Amino acid sequence: MGDAIKVDTLQKFLFEAAPVRGELVEISAAWQQVLARRAYPHAVKTILGEMMAAAALLSANLKFDGVIVMQIHGDGPVRLLVVECDSELQLRATAKMKDDAIIESDATLGQLVNQHGHGRFVITLDPKDKMPGQQPYQGIVPLDGDNVATVIENYMLRSEQLDTKLWLAADATVSRGMLLQRLPQEGGHAVAPAAAKDATAAIETLDAADAGDAWDRALALGATLGQEELLTTDIATLLHRLFWEETIRVFDARYPTFHCSCTREKVGGMLKMLGREEVEDALKDLDSLEIDCDFCGQHYEFDKVDCAQLFATEEPVETLQSPSKLRH
Ligand SMILES: [Zn+2]
Repeated sequence: MGDAIKVDTLQKFLFEAAPVRGELVEISAAWQQVLARRAYPHAVKTILGEMMAAAALLSANLKFDGVIVMQIHGDGPVRLLVVECDSELQLRATAKMKDDAIIESDATLGQLVNQHGHGRFVITLDPKDKMPGQQPYQGIVPLDGDNVATVIENYMLRSEQLDTKLWLAADATVSRGMLLQRLPQEGGHAVAPAAAKDATAAIETLDAADAGDAWDRALALGATLGQEELLTTDIATLLHRLFWEETIRVFDARYPTFHCSCTREKVGGMLKMLGREEVEDALKDLDSLEIDCDFCGQHYEFDKVDCAQLFATEEPVETLQSPSKLRH
């Protein structure tokens, strides 16, 4: 690669002769942007980084135009982990710890977020262009698994009925992951992605038993990939090292980036959701409300006039009746 600037990359691939697809991702620059904004304990970094790779893998895998929000609600020292990824592979992430949390560097997922068995894994699919009244799709599952990969595999099996295997690894430098998925079968035949015209013929000649064998073989190859190897090896090397015996079709690379979607309008919307009473109450002893974005640190300030305007625009009739509230 010489002096080429290394960019975050997501690589999709397909087994030419088997109904199995895969993805590899490496996120370094975007991950650094997340870490630059807050200091996380080592164990939290690992899990948030793994979620980051997983969110990019799922986002590229599900044919869905919108934002995937991946959350872990914890009942231990870590209260919340959130990673969001949109269809353009723009990512943001944050974690919230309990104020007095003491977190060992080798703490497990269970110790961090599932101490009393009340931890929850939540995936929300929020479509880009929602119909009026349309709610985002949300799946909530218990944290059944020792690591992020297992939790997501269980979720995918339950909600999408797809055999999916994930390998995830993260440290302070990079977040990497691999996904293998058995393509959905219809009447014993695999449904190949439209882009893989040449592979379709080969796949259609496979019966269900062959397809199962191919999936098992792909899994066996994937199983040779260790955590440390995943963490320290670039995508091209991994693809070759793991699947050199297979005929693999590699698609155009995609490039994940860090991007925060926060805006003043959205923060205003959040204040509106709190309700006029609560906002006015909070403003009693303050000149203005100050809100920092949890994801990017952007600072927002709403003074009394700003807040009055928030509620004025929502209830124009009332504003006409009580214009004094708008003056200051
Ligand atoms: Zn932000």
